[in-house]
Amino acid sequence: METPGQSVAEAYVAMYGRPAEGVWSAPGRINLIGEHTDYNRGMCLPIALSQRAWLAAGRREDDRLRLASLDLGETVEVALDEIGPGNPPNWAAYLAGVVWAMREAGLTVGGLNAVLSSQVPIGSGLSSSAAIEGCIAVAADALFDLGLTKDDTGRARLAALCQRAENHIVGAPTGGLDQTASLRAPAGMALLIDFDKLDAVGLPSARPVPFDPAADGLILLVINTLAPHANVDGQYAARRAACEAAAVKLGVTSLRAIDLDGLPDALEKFQSEAQVRAVRHIVTENARVVEAVAALQARDWVSFGQLMTAAQASQRDDYRISCPQSDLTCEVAVANGALGARQTGGGFGGCVIALVPLPKVGDVSDAVTKAYDAQGWPHPDIFRA
Ligand code: ADP
Ligand code: MG
Repeated sequence: METPGQSVAEAYVAMYGRPAEGVWSAPGRINLIGEHTDYNRGMCLPIALSQRAWLAAGRREDDRLRLASLDLGETVEVALDEIGPGNPPNWAAYLAGVVWAMREAGLTVGGLNAVLSSQVPIGSGLSSSAAIEGCIAVAADALFDLGLTKDDTGRARLAALCQRAENHIVGAPTGGLDQTASLRAPAGMALLIDFDKLDAVGLPSARPVPFDPAADGLILLVINTLAPHANVDGQYAARRAACEAAAVKLGVTSLRAIDLDGLPDALEKFQSEAQVRAVRHIVTENARVVEAVAALQARDWVSFGQLMTAAQASQRDDYRISCPQSDLTCEVAVANGALGARQTGGGFGGCVIALVPLPKVGDVSDAVTKAYDAQGWPHPDIFRA
């Protein structure tokens, strides 16, 4: 069977009449815990996925980008100096935006031909967007000999540029979790990202944490609810704005300044129930990330699972970014033997992750599928991370 890398390489030859200079890839991610904390200078704990985006690319003589997505069957061309907010529109903005951000940062990046294909399902909370940003970032890094992928500091810079592309050119006000996970998470480990601990040039600290459920007979099951999620609609931006307004009201630079001890006093400052809920989610979620890291270090999967389930309750009841499909999936998974379950990603649908003892994987999968049948929902897509 043809690998995704071969498919984009062959499509490149068919499109441009000569071989690509190389094929690059970057993974999607699962955020284990720590949701919507990134833009609050908080903590999160992602893993990189084996599903990746692949990009065959080669340099051009002129200052243009020609970008093809095999998955969408579309090709878009744009001049480098015409890239800006809204141009090119839609999916090509994620790729062109990264080149724009690299050039804005003073890096020498010129015209490119590129062919993209991705194994990361689009809009499922597994960050197909960071995967495609990451692969053009590493492609441009190699083709223009920038040397940034060689060490973690360079990768952190690339992640920040990918985030800038998504914020400024795509127009999605996302934090840096996804791009950091895609470009900096090591294989076989989770990555504790702390957006409050910055290095000398202001990039977030990221530290590997052991994560090997299989070694203890557990599977991280991914259940794609197929409820669509999007970070470019107003809900994500509204959550972010609510947090920023709450920080202003509390007189702090970010909600990270509030810890569990300070939470009761902080909450008294708000009349609006929505603000109380938002602040409570962010503060308790940061505390859960710290506990989750301790649980992983102790290989205490029962506690880790309980923290996942508590995080789901918080994003359902307080932050209100869950959806009926995710709620039901988590409930049914836990009722059928999962140690814990939560929706992962920006919210309002996408994928649920469940930590399941190997002998229970069949039970959980069957029970969730039956529950969807009872609701008349299309069957979820279930796979092992
Ligand atoms: P997520 O990152 O959770 O998958 P987003 O809404 O952040 O969801 O990003 C999804 C967007 O990324 C898609 O709507 C599309 O514009 C772009 N994208 C992702 N994968 C591809 C692909 N294979 N081809 C073209 N565009 C893609
Ligand atoms: Mg995304």
